[in-house]
Amino acid sequence: MAYVNENYLKLKAGYLFPEIGRRVSVFCEENPEAAKRLIRCGIGDVTEALPLAVREAMKSAVDDLGNRDTFRGYGPEQGYSFLREAIAGDYRERGLNVADDEVFVSDGSKCDTGNILEIFGEGNTIAITDPVYPVYVDTNVMAGNTGDAREDGSYEGLVYLPCTAENDFVPAIPEEKVDIIYLCYPNNPTGTTATREQLAAWVDYANKNGSILLYDAAYEAFIQDDSVPRSIFEIEGARTCAIEFRSFSKNGGFTGVRCGFTIVPKELTAQTKDGKEVALHGLWNRRMSTKFNGASYPVQRGAEALYSEAGKAEVAALIEHYMGNAKILSDACKACGLTVYGGENAPYVWVGCPEGVGSWDAFDKFLNEANVVVTPGAGFGAAGEGYFRISSFNSRANVEEVAKRIAELKW
Ligand SMILES: *Cc1c(COP(=O)(O)O)cnc(C)c1O
Repeated sequence: MAYVNENYLKLKAGYLFPEIGRRVSVFCEENPEAAKRLIRCGIGDVTEALPLAVREAMKSAVDDLGNRDTFRGYGPEQGYSFLREAIAGDYRERGLNVADDEVFVSDGSKCDTGNILEIFGEGNTIAITDPVYPVYVDTNVMAGNTGDAREDGSYEGLVYLPCTAENDFVPAIPEEKVDIIYLCYPNNPTGTTATREQLAAWVDYANKNGSILLYDAAYEAFIQDDSVPRSIFEIEGARTCAIEFRSFSKNGGFTGVRCGFTIVPKELTAQTKDGKEVALHGLWNRRMSTKFNGASYPVQRGAEALYSEAGKAEVAALIEHYMGNAKILSDACKACGLTVYGGENAPYVWVGCPEGVGSWDAFDKFLNEANVVVTPGAGFGAAGEGYFRISSFNSRANVEEVAKRIAELKW
Protein backbone atom coordinates (compact mmCIF):
# COMPACT_ATOMS: atom_id res chain seq x y z
CA MET A 1 0.00 0.00 0.00
CA ALA A 2 1.31 3.43 -0.87
CA TYR A 3 0.17 6.27 1.35
CA VAL A 4 -0.36 9.85 0.28
CA ASN A 5 0.90 12.97 2.00
CA GLU A 6 -2.36 13.74 3.76
CA ASN A 7 -1.28 17.32 4.34
CA TYR A 8 -2.26 17.92 0.70
CA LEU A 9 -5.82 16.97 1.61
CA LYS A 10 -5.98 19.91 4.02
CA LEU A 11 -5.44 22.40 1.19
CA LYS A 12 -8.41 24.55 0.37
CA ALA A 13 -9.08 24.01 -3.33
CA GLY A 14 -7.29 27.20 -4.48
CA TYR A 15 -10.21 29.48 -3.88
CA LEU A 16 -9.31 32.90 -5.20
CA PHE A 17 -8.30 32.61 -8.84
CA PRO A 18 -10.70 29.76 -9.70
CA GLU A 19 -13.59 31.75 -8.23
CA ILE A 20 -12.55 34.85 -10.20
CA GLY A 21 -12.33 32.69 -13.31
CA ARG A 22 -15.77 31.26 -12.67
CA ARG A 23 -17.38 34.68 -12.24
CA VAL A 24 -15.64 36.04 -15.32
CA SER A 25 -16.78 33.14 -17.52
CA VAL A 26 -20.37 33.42 -16.32
CA PHE A 27 -20.27 37.14 -17.09
CA CYS A 28 -18.78 36.58 -20.55
CA GLU A 29 -21.37 33.92 -21.42
CA GLU A 30 -24.25 36.11 -20.35
CA ASN A 31 -22.86 39.30 -21.88
CA PRO A 32 -21.02 38.40 -25.10
CA GLU A 33 -20.88 42.05 -26.26
CA ALA A 34 -19.47 43.39 -23.00
CA ALA A 35 -17.06 40.44 -22.90
CA LYS A 36 -15.32 41.91 -25.96
CA ARG A 37 -14.30 45.00 -23.97
CA LEU A 38 -13.17 43.07 -20.89
CA ILE A 39 -9.82 44.26 -19.49
CA ARG A 40 -7.96 42.09 -16.99
CA CYS A 41 -6.19 43.91 -14.19
CA GLY A 42 -6.22 40.90 -11.92
CA ILE A 43 -3.22 38.71 -12.41
CA GLY A 44 0.32 39.56 -11.34
CA ASP A 45 1.95 38.72 -14.65
CA VAL A 46 4.03 41.11 -16.73
CA THR A 47 2.81 42.13 -20.17
CA GLU A 48 5.68 43.94 -21.93
CA ALA A 49 8.34 42.41 -24.18
CA LEU A 50 11.50 40.78 -22.86
CA PRO A 51 14.42 43.27 -23.01
CA LEU A 52 16.53 43.14 -26.18
CA ALA A 53 19.74 42.80 -24.15
CA VAL A 54 18.30 39.62 -22.63
CA ARG A 55 17.14 38.19 -25.94
CA GLU A 56 20.53 38.82 -27.56
CA ALA A 57 22.37 37.21 -24.64
CA MET A 58 20.06 34.20 -24.75
CA LYS A 59 20.45 33.79 -28.51
CA SER A 60 24.19 33.93 -28.28
CA ALA A 61 24.09 31.40 -25.41
CA VAL A 62 22.06 29.07 -27.60
CA ASP A 63 24.77 29.41 -30.25
CA ASP A 64 27.39 28.50 -27.60
CA LEU A 65 25.49 25.27 -27.12
CA GLY A 66 25.57 24.65 -30.86
CA ASN A 67 29.35 24.44 -31.00
CA ARG A 68 31.19 21.57 -29.31
CA ASP A 69 34.02 23.91 -28.18
CA THR A 70 31.65 26.20 -26.28
CA PHE A 71 28.99 23.63 -25.46
CA ARG A 72 27.96 23.39 -21.79
CA GLY A 73 26.25 20.45 -20.17
CA TYR A 74 25.36 20.31 -16.50
CA GLY A 75 26.26 23.58 -14.83
CA PRO A 76 26.93 24.23 -11.15
CA GLU A 77 23.74 23.53 -9.15
CA GLN A 78 24.13 26.88 -7.36
CA GLY A 79 24.32 28.86 -10.61
CA TYR A 80 27.14 29.87 -12.97
CA SER A 81 29.80 32.02 -11.40
CA PHE A 82 29.25 34.75 -14.04
CA LEU A 83 25.69 35.25 -12.74
CA ARG A 84 26.44 34.78 -9.02
CA GLU A 85 29.17 37.40 -9.39
CA ALA A 86 26.87 39.83 -11.21
CA ILE A 87 24.20 39.43 -8.52
CA ALA A 88 26.49 39.64 -5.50
CA GLY A 89 28.44 42.45 -7.20
CA ASP A 90 25.22 44.44 -7.49
CA TYR A 91 24.61 44.04 -3.73
CA ARG A 92 28.20 45.04 -3.01
CA GLU A 93 27.85 48.12 -5.22
CA ARG A 94 25.05 49.15 -2.87
CA GLY A 95 27.39 48.70 0.06
CA LEU A 96 25.95 45.36 1.17
CA ASN A 97 28.17 42.53 2.19
CA VAL A 98 27.05 39.57 0.04
CA ALA A 99 29.60 37.00 -1.15
CA ASP A 100 29.27 35.32 -4.56
CA ASP A 101 28.81 31.92 -2.93
CA GLU A 102 25.96 33.17 -0.76
CA VAL A 103 23.89 33.51 -3.96
CA PHE A 104 21.91 30.45 -5.07
CA VAL A 105 20.45 30.84 -8.57
CA SER A 106 17.17 29.05 -9.27
CA ASP A 107 14.32 28.83 -11.73
CA GLY A 108 12.29 31.40 -9.78
CA SER A 109 11.44 32.49 -6.31
CA LYS A 110 8.05 30.81 -6.05
CA CYS A 111 9.96 27.53 -5.95
CA ASP A 112 12.57 28.89 -3.53
CA THR A 113 10.07 30.29 -1.04
CA GLY A 114 8.37 26.90 -1.04
CA ASN A 115 11.46 24.68 -1.09
CA ILE A 116 13.22 26.55 1.71
CA LEU A 117 10.95 24.77 4.20
CA GLU A 118 12.86 21.54 3.56
CA ILE A 119 15.83 22.75 5.60
CA PHE A 120 13.68 23.59 8.64
CA GLY A 121 12.59 20.97 11.13
CA GLU A 122 9.23 20.04 12.56
CA GLY A 123 7.50 22.03 15.23
CA ASN A 124 8.41 25.56 14.11
CA THR A 125 5.77 28.23 14.71
CA ILE A 126 5.21 29.96 11.40
CA ALA A 127 3.97 33.54 11.06
CA ILE A 128 2.55 34.98 7.86
CA THR A 129 1.03 38.33 7.12
CA ASP A 130 -2.66 38.66 6.30
CA PRO A 131 -3.32 39.40 3.41
CA VAL A 132 -0.56 37.25 1.94
CA TYR A 133 0.99 35.76 -1.21
CA PRO A 134 -0.77 32.35 -1.04
CA VAL A 135 2.39 30.31 -1.79
CA TYR A 136 3.77 30.84 1.74
CA VAL A 137 0.62 29.40 3.27
CA ASP A 138 0.05 26.44 0.98
CA THR A 139 3.68 25.26 1.12
CA ASN A 140 3.48 25.19 4.91
CA VAL A 141 0.28 23.18 4.71
CA MET A 142 2.00 20.68 2.38
CA ALA A 143 4.98 20.46 4.72
CA GLY A 144 2.74 19.57 7.65
CA ASN A 145 3.39 22.80 9.55
CA THR A 146 -0.31 23.56 10.03
CA GLY A 147 -3.49 21.97 11.31
CA ASP A 148 -6.71 21.82 9.35
CA ALA A 149 -8.34 24.65 7.41
CA ARG A 150 -11.01 26.63 9.19
CA GLU A 151 -14.30 27.73 7.68
CA ASP A 152 -12.84 31.13 6.67
CA GLY A 153 -9.92 29.53 4.79
CA SER A 154 -7.29 30.19 7.47
CA TYR A 155 -5.31 27.27 8.96
CA GLU A 156 -4.96 26.15 12.53
CA GLY A 157 -1.42 26.38 13.81
CA LEU A 158 -0.33 29.35 11.67
CA VAL A 159 0.13 32.76 13.28
CA TYR A 160 -1.62 35.39 11.16
CA LEU A 161 -0.28 38.94 11.37
CA PRO A 162 -2.99 41.33 10.13
CA CYS A 163 -1.82 44.13 7.81
CA THR A 164 -4.38 46.87 7.47
CA ALA A 165 -4.52 50.64 7.00
CA GLU A 166 -4.33 50.97 10.82
CA ASN A 167 -0.78 49.58 10.93
CA ASP A 168 0.27 50.90 7.50
CA PHE A 169 0.23 47.31 6.23
CA VAL A 170 3.29 46.34 8.25
CA PRO A 171 2.54 43.76 10.95
CA ALA A 172 3.04 44.54 14.62
CA ILE A 173 5.70 42.43 16.35
CA PRO A 174 3.77 39.49 17.84
CA GLU A 175 3.42 39.01 21.60
CA GLU A 176 4.13 35.31 21.27
CA LYS A 177 7.37 33.77 20.08
CA VAL A 178 7.36 32.71 16.43
CA ASP A 179 10.20 30.85 14.75
CA ILE A 180 9.82 31.67 11.06
CA ILE A 181 8.29 34.86 9.68
CA TYR A 182 7.52 35.60 6.03
CA LEU A 183 7.82 39.25 5.06
CA CYS A 184 7.34 40.56 1.52
CA TYR A 185 8.20 44.20 0.71
CA PRO A 186 7.30 45.94 -1.53
CA ASN A 187 4.24 43.84 -0.85
CA ASN A 188 2.07 41.68 -3.01
CA PRO A 189 -0.92 42.17 -2.76
CA THR A 190 -1.00 45.54 -0.95
CA GLY A 191 1.70 47.34 -2.96
CA THR A 192 2.94 48.94 0.26
CA THR A 193 6.48 49.13 1.67
CA ALA A 194 8.12 48.81 5.09
CA THR A 195 10.37 51.52 6.49
CA ARG A 196 13.91 50.96 7.72
CA GLU A 197 12.69 51.34 11.34
CA GLN A 198 9.91 48.79 10.88
CA LEU A 199 12.27 46.24 9.35
CA ALA A 200 14.87 46.96 12.05
CA ALA A 201 12.26 46.08 14.69
CA TRP A 202 11.70 42.72 12.98
CA VAL A 203 15.43 42.02 12.67
CA ASP A 204 15.80 42.86 16.32
CA TYR A 205 12.95 40.55 17.29
CA ALA A 206 14.35 37.72 15.16
CA ASN A 207 17.85 38.02 16.58
CA LYS A 208 16.54 38.12 20.16
CA ASN A 209 14.30 35.07 19.68
CA GLY A 210 16.46 33.00 17.35
CA SER A 211 13.78 33.37 14.65
CA ILE A 212 14.36 33.42 10.91
CA LEU A 213 12.95 36.07 8.55
CA LEU A 214 12.11 34.83 5.06
CA TYR A 215 12.25 38.10 3.14
CA ASP A 216 10.68 38.17 -0.32
CA ALA A 217 11.97 41.16 -2.30
CA ALA A 218 10.48 40.21 -5.68
CA TYR A 219 9.35 43.83 -6.24
CA GLU A 220 12.55 45.56 -5.11
CA ALA A 221 13.12 47.11 -8.53
CA PHE A 222 9.86 49.06 -8.34
CA ILE A 223 10.99 51.15 -5.34
CA GLN A 224 11.02 54.85 -6.27
CA ASP A 225 11.60 56.34 -2.83
CA ASP A 226 15.29 56.18 -1.89
CA SER A 227 14.50 55.93 1.82
CA VAL A 228 12.72 52.58 1.36
CA PRO A 229 15.06 49.59 1.93
CA ARG A 230 15.58 47.42 -1.15
CA SER A 231 17.05 44.50 0.71
CA ILE A 232 16.69 43.11 4.22
CA PHE A 233 20.49 43.14 4.34
CA GLU A 234 20.39 46.94 4.50
CA ILE A 235 19.26 46.41 8.08
CA GLU A 236 22.03 45.90 10.60
CA GLY A 237 21.92 42.42 12.08
CA ALA A 238 19.98 40.86 9.20
CA ARG A 239 22.82 38.52 8.24
CA THR A 240 22.25 36.50 11.40
CA CYS A 241 18.47 36.18 10.98
CA ALA A 242 17.37 36.54 7.35
CA ILE A 243 17.20 34.78 4.01
CA GLU A 244 16.34 36.96 1.00
CA PHE A 245 14.46 35.83 -2.10
CA ARG A 246 14.68 37.74 -5.36
CA SER A 247 13.32 37.11 -8.82
CA PHE A 248 13.89 38.40 -12.34
CA SER A 249 10.21 37.81 -13.10
CA LYS A 250 8.88 41.29 -12.44
CA ASN A 251 11.87 43.57 -13.15
CA GLY A 252 13.17 41.72 -16.22
CA GLY A 253 9.89 40.29 -17.47
CA PHE A 254 11.12 36.74 -16.74
CA THR A 255 7.78 35.23 -15.65
CA GLY A 256 7.98 32.88 -18.64
CA VAL A 257 11.79 32.68 -18.89
CA ARG A 258 12.17 31.61 -15.20
CA CYS A 259 15.09 32.74 -13.07
CA GLY A 260 15.48 33.93 -9.50
CA PHE A 261 17.87 33.61 -6.59
CA THR A 262 18.14 33.22 -2.86
CA ILE A 263 20.75 34.78 -0.57
CA VAL A 264 21.70 32.69 2.45
CA PRO A 265 24.34 34.42 4.61
CA LYS A 266 27.04 32.12 5.95
CA GLU A 267 26.61 33.29 9.55
CA LEU A 268 22.91 32.41 9.60
CA THR A 269 22.15 29.45 11.85
CA ALA A 270 19.25 27.51 13.31
CA GLN A 271 19.28 24.90 16.07
CA THR A 272 19.05 21.17 16.41
CA LYS A 273 16.59 19.86 19.01
CA ASP A 274 19.53 19.38 21.38
CA GLY A 275 20.62 22.98 21.01
CA LYS A 276 23.48 22.83 18.50
CA GLU A 277 23.81 25.73 16.02
CA VAL A 278 23.84 24.62 12.38
CA ALA A 279 24.62 26.92 9.43
CA LEU A 280 21.68 27.09 7.02
CA HIS A 281 24.02 27.94 4.13
CA GLY A 282 25.42 24.41 4.14
CA LEU A 283 21.98 22.84 4.31
CA TRP A 284 20.59 24.90 1.44
CA ASN A 285 23.71 24.18 -0.60
CA ARG A 286 23.16 20.48 0.02
CA ARG A 287 19.48 20.72 -0.83
CA MET A 288 20.17 22.51 -4.12
CA SER A 289 23.05 20.19 -5.08
CA THR A 290 20.92 17.11 -4.47
CA LYS A 291 17.54 18.15 -5.82
CA PHE A 292 18.32 20.79 -8.46
CA ASN A 293 20.56 20.81 -11.51
CA GLY A 294 20.66 24.54 -12.10
CA ALA A 295 18.69 27.00 -14.20
CA SER A 296 19.42 26.59 -17.91
CA TYR A 297 22.55 28.17 -19.37
CA PRO A 298 20.77 30.47 -21.89
CA VAL A 299 18.44 31.69 -19.12
CA GLN A 300 21.36 32.48 -16.81
CA ARG A 301 23.07 34.38 -19.64
CA GLY A 302 19.82 36.28 -20.12
CA ALA A 303 19.68 37.13 -16.42
CA GLU A 304 23.32 38.25 -16.50
CA ALA A 305 22.40 40.67 -19.29
CA LEU A 306 19.98 42.45 -16.94
CA TYR A 307 23.07 43.70 -15.10
CA SER A 308 24.71 45.16 -18.24
CA GLU A 309 24.37 48.88 -18.99
CA ALA A 310 21.93 48.16 -21.80
CA GLY A 311 19.98 45.71 -19.65
CA LYS A 312 19.72 48.14 -16.76
CA ALA A 313 18.41 50.86 -19.08
CA GLU A 314 15.75 48.51 -20.46
CA VAL A 315 14.70 47.41 -16.97
CA ALA A 316 14.44 51.08 -15.94
CA ALA A 317 12.15 51.71 -18.92
CA LEU A 318 9.93 48.74 -18.01
CA ILE A 319 9.65 49.90 -14.41
CA GLU A 320 8.85 53.43 -15.57
CA HIS A 321 6.12 52.04 -17.81
CA TYR A 322 4.47 49.95 -15.07
CA MET A 323 4.84 52.65 -12.42
CA GLY A 324 3.32 55.17 -14.84
CA ASN A 325 0.38 52.79 -15.13
CA ALA A 326 0.15 52.53 -11.34
CA LYS A 327 -0.06 56.32 -11.08
CA ILE A 328 -2.84 56.56 -13.66
CA LEU A 329 -4.87 53.86 -11.88
CA SER A 330 -4.19 55.33 -8.49
CA ASP A 331 -5.19 58.85 -9.58
CA ALA A 332 -8.36 57.53 -11.20
CA CYS A 333 -9.43 55.83 -7.96
CA LYS A 334 -8.57 58.88 -5.85
CA ALA A 335 -10.51 61.16 -8.20
CA CYS A 336 -13.70 59.24 -7.49
CA GLY A 337 -13.19 59.42 -3.76
CA LEU A 338 -11.70 55.98 -3.11
CA THR A 339 -8.88 55.57 -0.59
CA VAL A 340 -5.75 54.26 -2.26
CA TYR A 341 -2.71 52.52 -0.77
CA GLY A 342 0.41 51.15 -2.42
CA GLY A 343 1.13 51.83 -6.08
CA GLU A 344 4.01 54.23 -5.32
CA ASN A 345 6.84 51.74 -4.93
CA ALA A 346 5.13 48.64 -6.30
CA PRO A 347 3.04 47.74 -9.35
CA TYR A 348 -0.07 47.03 -7.26
CA VAL A 349 -2.69 49.56 -6.22
CA TRP A 350 -4.61 48.51 -3.12
CA VAL A 351 -7.93 50.27 -2.85
CA GLY A 352 -10.29 50.57 0.10
CA CYS A 353 -13.90 49.70 -0.79
CA PRO A 354 -16.46 52.43 -0.04
CA GLU A 355 -18.32 52.09 3.28
CA GLY A 356 -20.53 49.02 3.32
CA VAL A 357 -19.10 47.51 0.10
CA GLY A 358 -17.33 44.15 0.45
CA SER A 359 -14.32 43.01 -1.60
CA TRP A 360 -16.37 40.65 -3.74
CA ASP A 361 -19.10 43.31 -4.21
CA ALA A 362 -16.41 45.64 -5.55
CA PHE A 363 -15.12 42.85 -7.79
CA ASP A 364 -18.64 42.27 -9.19
CA LYS A 365 -19.24 45.97 -9.70
CA PHE A 366 -16.00 46.34 -11.66
CA LEU A 367 -16.82 43.28 -13.74
CA ASN A 368 -20.45 44.13 -14.47
CA GLU A 369 -20.29 47.90 -14.82
CA ALA A 370 -16.74 48.61 -15.98
CA ASN A 371 -15.96 45.23 -17.55
CA VAL A 372 -12.67 45.27 -15.70
CA VAL A 373 -11.29 42.35 -13.70
CA VAL A 374 -9.72 43.32 -10.37
CA THR A 375 -8.76 41.06 -7.46
CA PRO A 376 -10.87 41.04 -4.28
CA GLY A 377 -8.70 41.60 -1.21
CA ALA A 378 -10.50 38.96 0.83
CA GLY A 379 -9.05 36.33 -1.51
CA PHE A 380 -5.58 37.01 -0.03
CA GLY A 381 -6.73 36.56 3.57
CA ALA A 382 -9.39 37.67 6.02
CA ALA A 383 -7.69 41.03 6.65
CA GLY A 384 -7.95 41.80 2.93
CA GLU A 385 -11.73 42.12 3.24
CA GLY A 386 -12.76 45.68 2.42
CA TYR A 387 -10.04 46.15 -0.21
CA PHE A 388 -9.39 45.23 -3.82
CA ARG A 389 -6.17 45.10 -5.83
CA ILE A 390 -5.61 46.59 -9.27
CA SER A 391 -2.50 45.41 -11.08
CA SER A 392 -0.60 47.83 -13.27
CA PHE A 393 0.89 45.07 -15.42
CA ASN A 394 -0.80 46.10 -18.63
CA SER A 395 -0.42 48.20 -21.77
CA ARG A 396 -0.72 51.98 -21.39
CA ALA A 397 -3.76 52.03 -23.68
CA ASN A 398 -5.59 49.47 -21.51
CA VAL A 399 -4.73 51.34 -18.34
CA GLU A 400 -5.98 54.64 -19.76
CA GLU A 401 -9.21 52.95 -20.78
CA VAL A 402 -9.58 51.40 -17.29
CA ALA A 403 -9.04 54.84 -15.72
CA LYS A 404 -11.82 56.26 -17.90
CA ARG A 405 -14.18 53.48 -16.84
CA ILE A 406 -13.30 53.93 -13.15
CA ALA A 407 -14.31 57.59 -13.47
CA GLU A 408 -17.72 56.52 -14.78
CA LEU A 409 -18.47 54.08 -11.94
CA LYS A 410 -21.20 55.21 -9.56
CA TRP A 411 -20.70 53.76 -6.05
C1 LIG B 1 5.75 37.26 -8.69
C2 LIG B 1 6.20 36.97 -7.31
C3 LIG B 1 7.34 36.21 -7.08
C4 LIG B 1 8.18 35.70 -8.22
O1 LIG B 1 7.94 34.38 -8.49
P1 LIG B 1 8.77 33.65 -9.64
O2 LIG B 1 8.59 32.21 -9.31
O3 LIG B 1 10.18 34.08 -9.53
O4 LIG B 1 8.15 34.03 -10.95
C5 LIG B 1 7.73 36.00 -5.77
N1 LIG B 1 7.03 36.49 -4.74
C6 LIG B 1 5.94 37.24 -4.94
C7 LIG B 1 5.23 37.80 -3.75
C8 LIG B 1 5.48 37.49 -6.22
O5 LIG B 1 4.38 38.21 -6.40
